[in-house]
Formats: sequence, C-alpha cells, structure tokens
Amino acid sequence: MLRVDLGQLGREGSVVVEASISAEDELWKDTDLRWAGDVAVKLRATFAGTGEAVARGNVRGTLRQDCRRCLGPLETDVADELTLVFVTDRSEDDEEGGAYPFDATGSELDLSRAVREELVLAVNPYVVCHSGCRGLCARCGADLNEGPCDCTDDEVDPRWAALRQLKSE
Ligand SMILES: [Zn+2]
Ligand SMILES: [Zn+2]
Repeated sequence: MLRVDLGQLGREGSVVVEASISAEDELWKDTDLRWAGDVAVKLRATFAGTGEAVARGNVRGTLRQDCRRCLGPLETDVADELTLVFVTDRSEDDEEGGAYPFDATGSELDLSRAVREELVLAVNPYVVCHSGCRGLCARCGADLNEGPCDCTDDEVDPRWAALRQLKSE
C-alpha cells in the first residue's frame, strides 16, 4: 500500500506513493481514529544522506468524533502536511524528534505506520460541535442545547449554595 520500492528510489532519486486507505483498514486498529470514509495519502520519498530517507506530503480524510460537551456525533476534516524522517541508526534524540526506523538494506520502506503515528498525534480528541454548545446537564444528562432541564437551583449542593451566599454578600 504505502510502500516505497527502495530499488526504484535509488534509481530515480524520488518516488511518489499515493494510497487511499479504507476506514476499515487494519492500520487504524488499536487507535481512536474512526474515519467517515477513505483516507487519501500522497507522499514523495527521497533519500536524505546515507541511511536516511524523508517522505513529505499530505493526508486528507474525515474523522468521526463526538462532541466533548454534548457527546453528539460530528465530522472533522483532517488535512495535514506530513514530514516523515526515517533513519537507520536511531539514537534517543531521533526517537524524541519523531524519526522512524529505516532498514536501508531491505527492499522497501513501509510508510503506513509512520503515517498512523503522525495522525494519532495530530488529531485533537477534544472537539466541540460548535463553540456555543451547552453540553449535557451534569445531574440529569439532558441535552441543554434543546432547552433547560427540570433540575432546579434548590437541588444545588448546600456547600455551593453557601459559597454563592458569600459571593453575593
Ligand atoms: Zn455539542
Ligand atoms: Zn438536569
């Protein structure tokens, strides 16, 4: 799928790989990434010195997420520019800097795991359906966007009531 033929890369200097990864693909297993459709990936791989390769490009897709306030479903468009760095001898610095392992003696370089990692890091899990979302009542669970619920102020925790009293004095 997202594999670079290292022989071709050696001959041509750069190779473009393009793939459309299905929402059901194994790649997304064990992640929180739920896609509404295919994820389009286009990357250009080049060698960057001995034992190093770089893949640059973009990834586009639509994520299915839940509003963190009202838990309603929403779709988020993802359009990320990616720069993936692969190195053969990974030092600790490389790992922290986000470089991925690269077996330069192999016949191909698989970009898919690196793409997955980048997406996991890039996606914001705390999204809201709209900035004014009122969320759910903490007590009865009613969706407050549909109007106020029946929970009244009398039921407020007495400690909060006392605090409110202090504030208004
Ligand atoms: Zn919401
Ligand atoms: Zn309520």
